[in-house]
Amino acid sequence: MVTLLDAVKMAYRKHHLDDPSVGWDELSDVLMIALCNEMGDKGFQSWLNQVSAQQNVQRTASNVCEYCGRSDGSHDISKHVAYIRSRHAAKT
Ligand SMILES: [Zn+2]
Repeated sequence: MVTLLDAVKMAYRKHHLDDPSVGWDELSDVLMIALCNEMGDKGFQSWLNQVSAQQNVQRTASNVCEYCGRSDGSHDISKHVAYIRSRHAAKT
């Protein structure tokens, strides 16, 4: 179980201490898992879609999400969660 505290500590290590033992992908995964635990997968999804909609970024094919395959700036968080949890399960 990843807590918000775990995720924030890891983010601090990466952003402030520039700790090379924390990878950007790993940090991203842990932050997402912690947010999903806190907000629920659906709550996280609607929040993320809201944030994405506010970005005036021109989306191209290169913006295809590696987790859910969407390219319109929205995300299918259930696919993210399944992908990330399976990746973490495989590691241990
Ligand atoms: Zn996605």
